[in-house]
Parts: sequence; structure tokens; C-alpha cells
Amino acid sequence: MNKIRNFCIIAHIDHGKSTLADRMLEITGTIEKRKMKDQVLDRMDLERERGITIKLQPVRMDYQGYILNLIDTPGHVDFTYEVSRSLAAVEGAVLLVDATQGIQAQTLANLYLALEQNLTIIPVINKIDLPAANVLKTKNEIIKLLGCQAEEIICASGKTGQGVAEILEAVIERVPEPKIITDNAPLRALIFDSNYDEYRGVVAYVRIFDGQIKKGDKINLLATKAKSEALDVGVFKPDYMSTGKLETGEIGYIVTGFKDVSECRVGDTVSTERGSTSIRQLAEEVEPLRGYNQVKPMVFAGIFPREGNEFQELRESIAKLKLNDASLMYEPEHSEALGLGFRCGFLGLLHLEIFQERLKREYNLDLIVTIPSVAYMVHPVKSRHVVGSRSEFNGVNKKNGDNLIIRSPQKLPDPNEIEKIEEPWVSLDIITPKDFIGAVMNLVQDKRGIYKNTEYIDETRVILHYQLPMAAILTDFYDKIKSASSGYASINYEFIAYRPADVVKMDILVAEDAVEALANIVYRDEAFRRGKEIVEALKEALPKQMFVVKLQASVYGKVIAAERIAAMRKDVTAKLYGGDVSRKRKLLEKQKKGKKKMMASGKGSVEIPGDVFVKLLKR
Ligand code: GDP
Ligand code: MG
Repeated sequence: MNKIRNFCIIAHIDHGKSTLADRMLEITGTIEKRKMKDQVLDRMDLERERGITIKLQPVRMDYQGYILNLIDTPGHVDFTYEVSRSLAAVEGAVLLVDATQGIQAQTLANLYLALEQNLTIIPVINKIDLPAANVLKTKNEIIKLLGCQAEEIICASGKTGQGVAEILEAVIERVPEPKIITDNAPLRALIFDSNYDEYRGVVAYVRIFDGQIKKGDKINLLATKAKSEALDVGVFKPDYMSTGKLETGEIGYIVTGFKDVSECRVGDTVSTERGSTSIRQLAEEVEPLRGYNQVKPMVFAGIFPREGNEFQELRESIAKLKLNDASLMYEPEHSEALGLGFRCGFLGLLHLEIFQERLKREYNLDLIVTIPSVAYMVHPVKSRHVVGSRSEFNGVNKKNGDNLIIRSPQKLPDPNEIEKIEEPWVSLDIITPKDFIGAVMNLVQDKRGIYKNTEYIDETRVILHYQLPMAAILTDFYDKIKSASSGYASINYEFIAYRPADVVKMDILVAEDAVEALANIVYRDEAFRRGKEIVEALKEALPKQMFVVKLQASVYGKVIAAERIAAMRKDVTAKLYGGDVSRKRKLLEKQKKGKKKMMASGKGSVEIPGDVFVKLLKR
């Protein structure tokens, strides 16, 4: 008899996934009471400080003779890849809906992902302990959405523990047991996540679909063709707990022994060497598991070490972190002003923020992060003049008519070499109470949104469907939607296509020097306003210097906005007691000379704090 059940908890952000998981861990006695804390599966300090889940987290529970493998998932749209990878490792999903909020944008997005994988859905109304809980209304929303029976919906509270045992029982009853195809099948284990552990090295998080693996087995990855030995295997409790083997249907980890972190990729299939089978034979014999779609990064930024000699360290750190952040894309980049670094692609601004914070905390790096932007598609002019010229596009010799994806403002060619620029658009769903439709629509129209249609969830709430330039979401869009709707609206978006955009490159000059990290691409008709915003924001963000600092925004060499930061007056005479006027005068003279020197030295005289870039964008 098969006594394994694998499931995830999915929901909109803050609907109580991690808190519900806490209660499950308690009921099943998985975590000792004294080690229990709120949202215990949010294992990173960063997650706990911000109160959000960033990483999927598997944990194995034993309950009434069953093995229950739970994967807790994040709710924020920037971490959707974590959700979809978790879903591919399980047979069921507990769909939580907060009884005070009802169905929200990520509820739908995550539900659709689960349905694509044909998972069994267990609908749960959560937070029924709250006075504002509206169980009946939420129940009706869920019935309408899933077409399920009212009796299938479980009412629960992750706070009080009410209904939690019932959820576990429903998981045992309703979620199908893992399929076991044949007893002697070769190993096929899906890598759904990975991690670089200081002591264990490269650890793969796997779901065993066929066969079994034991400590000491030779392992082969079918996609990267990497070979190694399973130095250890075990399960998540949620800490690593060695079991020596994993069998069909189980979720656990393999300590891979890989030296090169890039050999271990999520979506790859782990198999073992059987007798004399060569890896080529193995790859023919064993069909790889389906794996995952590659994610499309939406937001790009340059990441550079503040100290040039930390480049190697940065390279290694990013490679290691990539193991635990599968949606990150990166490639080396050279910048005249910032030296060697990486151009990195993210799913959104929050993803970028979290990534740089993790580099700082987990790898102790001091970084400069450039202003993030979307990628643009540039259609070069198809003139004879350009064809065959030796000028370079994006480091590659351009050919006639080749479109280029530009991920950095620096790479934007001269305007006279550009025929057309296109920018990415997304389809945007906004769920909002009817009362706020007007305010929300105004805001989206302001951001160049194109209205498509409206769907009714019930009499009080709607889904507005829009199309919108991705760049609009890279500002304070989310905050503005929240304030336009008194916090009630939620959004979800997905890339649809590139469409024409009238944009220009804007340089930002600090003390007359163009600061490469601050260059950005803006709409031509917004350049003036954006330029003003940025120099004003910089004025607040930059520390005062010993001299006056000019701040300018310029487009194609023409200054369109300017500010200045007054000089700091350091009273060099403060230390001098008494009235020796001539000494005082001498010192002031000296200070004046000092000022001149720093102004003349120009480059690098103004230190720009590493975190102002993301802040600037958020205004
Ligand atoms: P997640 O983002 O879905 O993982 O949500 P969390 O588990 O982090 O919970 C979000 C917030 O809701 C936290 O402040 C929890 O304390 C609170 N919360 C979660 N479940 C309940 C519940 O059943 N009742 C009440 N009153 N609060 C809850
Ligand atoms: Mg959570």
C-alpha cells in the first residue's frame, strides 16, 4: 500500500500559507514545541523580517501512518517560478483563501498553474477566527471559481488551529497517491530546487518519480550530462535529515558532490548508473522528466562590486546563489565606470531587491546596483551606410535588419542608427471591489494601459483586464493601485509581446560627470518630468560634500533638469579656542583650497550610496 501524499499550499500573498503550515507541523509533531516559532518554514532572516515567503520550502510530516510531504510556497508574483516548480513535484494543492479578503489576483494565478498540472485542489477558507471573516461570501466565490460542492470546502484558522486536522485528513483522502510504474524502473528524480550548503556543497531537492536512490549511488544528470556520486540522501524535517535512501514517490534531497555549481540545474532529471550502462545509453533508455519552462526575466540591472578586486568573489557568489534562485539570469558585463560585473535579469523589482540583499547578507558583498529597466527591442536602420560598418551593437557586429534586445541603457545605439524601438507589454489582471473601479481605471490609463474587459466575481468585486507596458509596473505602480483601492485591489501580470515605444536615453550627471549606473531609458514625452524627479530624489539621497554638487538630467547632451546640493560647511575652526583671528583665517584659506581640489578631481569625488538606485526608481 502506498502511504505517501505530496502536496503544496498555494494562495495569494498573506492569506496564511506559512502560518497554516506551522499548525500542521505542530499537529504532526514534526517540530519540537521549543523549536517552534511563527512561520517556521520562512527560514531566511530576510523572509522573517519582511514577513513574506521568498523560497519554496519542503517538509516531511508523519501523520496517522502516512508520509505527508508538504511544500510551502511564496505568494508574490515575482516568485511564481517557485510555485510552478513546487507544483510539478506534487499531486495535490491546498488552495487557501483568506475569509476577510476573498479571492485575489494571485489566488487565480496560482490556481491556474495548479490546474495545468492536473493537481487535486483542496479549497480552504482561512482566518475564520477574524471578526471580519465573511465565510459565506468567500464560499460562494470559491464555488463559482472551482465549480465544487460547498461540502468540499474546509473552513480553518491557521491561528487557532481550527480545521487543520480536517485539512490533513482531506489530503490523505483526496490527493492521489504517487504512481509507481514498475518495481524495477531506472531512477528518475526531478530536481525542483537546489541549494549551496557550506558543509554539503551542491544539494539537489528532488521528487523521485521512478526507482530509488541510495547513498553512494553513482548519479547522472540527463540534461547537463554531469556525473557524480550521491554523497548523502535524506528528507526535510525541515532541516536536512539523512535517511540513506529515497524511494519512488518521495521528496527529499541528494548531496550531489558536484564541484561545478552550474552542473546542477532545476528541471533536470537525476538517474543512476546501472551496471555497465554508459551515460549515452542511459540517456537513450531513460526518458527525461518534463522539467520546467525557462522563465523570461522582465527586469534587468547591472550588479557591480564596489571594490574592483571583489569581482571573482561576486562571480562565485552569484553562481552559488543561482542554485537557490532558479529564475535569476545573468551574464558578465563590462562598464567603463564600474568595471567588471554582471547584467542580471529578474522577474520583478522585489526579486531584484531580495537578490541584492541576499548577496550582501549571505556573501558579505558591497555592491553597486544600476537603475533597473525592462529590455527593449531595437530595430536598426537598414541603410547601406550602416551595413558592414565596423560599429558594434551589444558587443556583436550587427547585420542588416537584425533586431537586438537591449538590456542596458549603455547599449542603446545612437538615435540615427535606430529605426524603431519596442518595449515589452504585459496582460494585467486587477481584482478590485466595485467601489474603486473608477480610481483604479484612472491610474492604469495614466500609465498607458489599454482596457480590455471586465469580469464579475460577484455583485461586489470585479476583475479588470488590461494590457500595459511592463515599464509601468517598474515604478510605484503596485503601491498606487493599493492606495487607489484602500488596499483592496490585487494584481497579476504576464508578458504578452513587444510593442513600439517612443523612448530616449537619459543621462544623469553628478558633479558634471555622467553616472553610468544612473542612465535610464524613458518615454520621450515623460523625459522632462522623470528627469526632474530623479535629480530631486538624488538631492535628498546623496550625502553633502565639501563642495557644491550639480545634479543634471540630460537627453542627447541637452540638460533638461537640474538641481544642486549645497556644500557641507565643516567648521574647521571649531577646535580653535580663543581669538587668534589670523590662525582662523589661515585654516579657512586651507579649506577653500581643499574644496577646489576636490572639485577639480572630478570623477569619483562623489560617493553614491549603493542602494539609491532602486529607491530612485520607486518614486
Ligand atoms: P503567507 O504569505 O500566505 O505565507 O501568510 P502568512 O502565514 O505569513 O500570514 C500572513 C499574516 O496573516 C500573518 O500576520 C499571520 O499572523 C496572519 N494569519 C495567518 N493565518 C491566520 C489566521 O488563521 N487567523 C488570523 N487572525 N491571522 C492569520
Ligand atoms: Mg508564506
